[in-house]
Amino acid sequence: MSLCSIKNAHIKVLSFMRSLRTKATDITPKVREKVKARDKNKCVYCGFGYAINLAHIWVNRSHGGLGIEQNLVCLCLECHTKLDNGKEIHAKPIREHCERYLKAHYKIDVEKMRYKKYENIGD
Ligand SMILES: [Zn+2]
Repeated sequence: MSLCSIKNAHIKVLSFMRSLRTKATDITPKVREKVKARDKNKCVYCGFGYAINLAHIWVNRSHGGLGIEQNLVCLCLECHTKLDNGKEIHAKPIREHCERYLKAHYKIDVEKMRYKKYENIGD
């Protein structure tokens, strides 16, 4: 086996493992509908009813955060942007509000919201 074909096989394995993780962190249409129904399709922070999308709260998708109801809330574009890209002083009250909100609905176990398998491979 040449070095090049070993490298190619390695790349194939890595991309397969990444696709498993991508699947686990995907938000299925069913979960999306459930979260939107739970939050009445409004921003859980400011109550705005337009430009709503789902935000990860406990574990971000880029850190293997699962696309499950316990990890997601509806946020408007403005609050979502502040949460993900804003200064900590703006993000903190939104994150804390969302954490309280989710704790009121579920028993929260943050460790169960992270996709663990193959987590550190290829990153
Ligand atoms: Zn909002």
